[in-house]
Amino acid sequence: MSALAARLIERIRAEGPISIAEYMRECNAHYYATRDPFGAAGDFVTAPEISQVFGELIGAWCADYWERMGAPDPVLLVELGPGRGTLMVDALRATKHVPGFHDALKLHLVEQSPVLRKLQQEKLADYAPTFHDDTARLGFDDEVRNLPAGPLLVVANEFFDALPIMQFEQHELQWYERLVAWEDERLVLRRAPHHLPEIPNGARPENEGKIRAISPALEQAAEHIGVRLRRHGGAALIIDYGYFPAALGDTLQALRHHRPVSILESPGEVDLTAHVDFARLAQAGEHGRAQAHGPITQAQFFIALGIAERESALLKAASPAQQETIRSGVQRLIDPAQMGALFKVLALTRQGGPIPAGFAA
Ligand code: SAH
Repeated sequence: MSALAARLIERIRAEGPISIAEYMRECNAHYYATRDPFGAAGDFVTAPEISQVFGELIGAWCADYWERMGAPDPVLLVELGPGRGTLMVDALRATKHVPGFHDALKLHLVEQSPVLRKLQQEKLADYAPTFHDDTARLGFDDEVRNLPAGPLLVVANEFFDALPIMQFEQHELQWYERLVAWEDERLVLRRAPHHLPEIPNGARPENEGKIRAISPALEQAAEHIGVRLRRHGGAALIIDYGYFPAALGDTLQALRHHRPVSILESPGEVDLTAHVDFARLAQAGEHGRAQAHGPITQAQFFIALGIAERESALLKAASPAQQETIRSGVQRLIDPAQMGALFKVLALTRQGGPIPAGFAA
């Protein structure tokens, strides 16, 4: 048994069952802090690792929004959860020739994991990134001001799905939180003994046994981004798998070596994620008084940004073997049966600010 599993079990035995959010927070902090989870040898693959076009077009989107804002100098380029740093490397390479953009940008990376920070630092050394632990300490709110003043561009791919969620189950027309408990020498999911005094959506007979999820961490991060955009201007681009409109259901999942496993198996050794509730994400940004655009599907977004043209340009310079990789990578990003429809894109901007590329006015 891992040290984390032992510590969690000890805690649950002493204090009683804990929230799924608390379990997920502890597990994911340990998981990311102790490995590079990406790629064939790891647990999962993300879009920047599938095709360079992903980061390139996001870079172009950022540079375009910067120009639409009037090319402010400095501008903060902030990535949440940069993983191996691949998206940002591709984005920066693709925007090298945008006049003034690189001179104006200050790179800020929000990353908890020391292992991944090291990778990011190596790949992005030329841009001297400033690291931050988490979004709450970035200075999106009034108390903490770790991020300097000024307009910003925020990019987050597959960041929000890793933030802790709480789950609630409807039972006899009441909502009960689902907790992680220790019974018969193993971790199990249990309904809390007491129901919630009040719930936002109301309970309905047809929803008996159904599950709903909320993520206070996701909502807080989105609201802070909204506040920051309102004060300083700029835009945030959030890409993730998730649902829109709101829906009931259990989307909490664990992956190990690209296969689904139980979320209670090997705490901290498997990747725990939940589908992002895009309606809540947009709403939280709007609470911070930013303007939400979308969500639209990943396919709609990249087609609008000209993924076909970028693919053709790459194909011209590629060997036959490379051409196959380029084609299948692009296909995987936009095919609705692969990542094109499940993945969605939401933008937040200052109210009345320029409309971001890819989103209808
Ligand atoms: N954007 C990358 C990586 C996605 S995986 C890509 O597309 O490949 C999630 C990333 O978010 C990892 O870098 C992980 O270490 C980071 N992360 C997860 N939870 C975090 C948190 N609460 N605070 C800061 N970083 C976090």
